[in-house]
Amino acid sequence: SKKIPVFGSFEEMNLKEDLLKGIYSYGFEAPSAIQSRAIMQIISGRDTIAQAQSGTGKTATFSIAMLQTIDINKKDTQALVLSPTRELAIQIQDVIKSLGDYMNVKCHACTGGRAVGNDMKSLNKGQHIVSGTPGRVLDMINRRVLNTRHIKILVMDEADELLGKGFQDQIYEIYKFLPPGAQVVVVSATVPHSVLAVTRKFMNNPVKILVKRDEITLEGIKQYYVQVEKEDWKFDTLCDLYDSLTITQAVIFCNTKKKVNWLADSLKNANFSVVSMHGDMKQEERDKIMNEFRLGNSRVLISTDVWARGIDVQQVSLVINYDLPIDRENYIHRIGRSGRFGRKGVAVNFVTKDDVDTLHDLEHFYDTKIDEMPADLSTVV
Ligand code: ADP
Ligand code: MG
Repeated sequence: SKKIPVFGSFEEMNLKEDLLKGIYSYGFEAPSAIQSRAIMQIISGRDTIAQAQSGTGKTATFSIAMLQTIDINKKDTQALVLSPTRELAIQIQDVIKSLGDYMNVKCHACTGGRAVGNDMKSLNKGQHIVSGTPGRVLDMINRRVLNTRHIKILVMDEADELLGKGFQDQIYEIYKFLPPGAQVVVVSATVPHSVLAVTRKFMNNPVKILVKRDEITLEGIKQYYVQVEKEDWKFDTLCDLYDSLTITQAVIFCNTKKKVNWLADSLKNANFSVVSMHGDMKQEERDKIMNEFRLGNSRVLISTDVWARGIDVQQVSLVINYDLPIDRENYIHRIGRSGRFGRKGVAVNFVTKDDVDTLHDLEHFYDTKIDEMPADLSTVV
């Protein structure tokens, strides 16, 4: 395979002047590794599979490429980004709007849980780029509110999640509405073989920028485990760690909504300040929790895998897996909520005897080391 050229600066990419201005005023000085390789591949028009470790700037990679690709003088929707959660779709919209600020880009977030009427109003006004979740996007296409005829580029962020069981059918349906030859870009920190195989169905000779399995974990994120005798003991362990959790910000993952509710209630009853979020909550509530957490007004968030992927809160330096994740991809995504863009992070896995094998599998699969947690966690956070 041909070597992919590396662009050491944003200037070298010959971007539109107002886009370049947007990039610099957003605070970026130089492109990250994935940006220096993938932006120009995407701009060249080729289908692209862009894998890079969590927190290394994949959002700006596809956002800059999309902003360069669209014709701002046309009102048509020319680019579509799909992602698995509402919060992520909105975060992506924010990045696109900021980077495209000097271009006067119009970008709409098309997500479930919000009034359909608002989507209709916004889309009818004309949006260059739409960032959405599959269900609502499909709904808007079916209602003939989102016109797909001029879409040149489809980006799937967290693509392995989108191409998994839960979303696959909706993705294919959306894809069928795109003009023939539309460019497809697939992005994730994890691209399992099964997903690579699936991409053959709708990608044309893609450029592949991949990360070896033993290089997916970030050096900046220290991984630990705490072994407890019984599940019940996890709660006391967590209470003991609470002071360390609040040094910056922390996210605690459980595998079910019910457990999130239980853990949040139990901690509150024990006078610990925590917030929680999951997919059964009203969207207004989710928005409120999200805003407060982004502002740093709440420091400890308990959530399900709805929070595992993509969410970027730079202050998060600690992730706790109260339950080990069900699949090994989400392990990478969960711990990647910390250690954003070169920052340091710490991940702590709570394990019972039953989890020891799973933990070793993770270590082995990613060729990484998960050490026993030091007695005083605050010394490493
Ligand atoms: P990923 O999608 O790869 O997990 P994000 O796109 O969410 O990562 O980016 C992680 C963080 O890094 C964000 O806060 C983003 O603003 C920041 N970032 C991205 N690219 C750059 C850059 N070139 N210079 C400085 N910060 C960057
Ligand atoms: Mg991302």
